[in-house]
Amino acid sequence: MPGHVSTVVFRDDGVSSREPNAICDACGRRGTTARARLETKPPQIFRWCRRCAPREVARFEREQNEASRRWFDKRREAFAANPRVTPTVGIATPPASSIKWDSWRMRARFFRVVARGMWKKLVRRKNRERYGDPIGL
Ligand SMILES: [Zn+2]
Repeated sequence: MPGHVSTVVFRDDGVSSREPNAICDACGRRGTTARARLETKPPQIFRWCRRCAPREVARFEREQNEASRRWFDKRREAFAANPRVTPTVGIATPPASSIKWDSWRMRARFFRVVARGMWKKLVRRKNRERYGDPIGL
């Protein structure tokens, strides 16, 4: 799908997402369960409590996806304007990001992503067994 960007990053920076003494960046409450990291220099860390995490994690992901989309749009525009030049000058790559959220929601999402990939593979294999390889693939 042209112009569609979707990224799933699961990375572990070795720090637990549960920090009983950390302060929530959204409401100031003590005790956080979610942690997001933006790979800027220096890296930015955000922490959210159990109550704020669903909303704040969603907002963080939305912002990162929008930044990626803006970056792709800019590159596409630059390429359209001058296809002979690789359009990287003046267009900063958005920083990588990761989210760690110890909750049933995050686990459920992780298993959904993994299960979807496995299901697609299985369907592809079954189709190949049944109909043979599609021409040109
Ligand atoms: Zn909070």
